[in-house]
Amino acid sequence: MVHRQEPAVHHATGPVRTCVGCRVKTMDSELLRVVVEDGVLVPDAARRRLGRGAWVHPDSHCLRAAERRRAFPKAFRLRGPLDATGVAEYLGRVEERGDSARHEVGRGEYDTGGVTSGG
Ligand SMILES: [Zn+2]
Repeated sequence: MVHRQEPAVHHATGPVRTCVGCRVKTMDSELLRVVVEDGVLVPDAARRRLGRGAWVHPDSHCLRAAERRRAFPKAFRLRGPLDATGVAEYLGRVEERGDSARHEVGRGEYDTGGVTSGG
């Protein structure tokens, strides 16, 4: 009886990309695709746009790190600097959504009527 060894295949994993901000390699589903249009960086969350793309965590820290090290012009082989305002705004919206959800959790209203500390 032959015991066949299965290769360690991870299911539901996509291609691995490198975040241009923090240089961490991760699945492309964890990253935001960014493309260039007329010298302006554009978030491509749907990944439909043609051409070269850069990958960054949907995190303003990574975006800033990428800007600081001029990773976008390098990734697109352009001279730069490239305007990342559109991407920053996109990330701002994403992060805002996450924050407001967090604030709603664990807020209870208790009636403390009648309890007073004597003095
Ligand atoms: Zn990153």
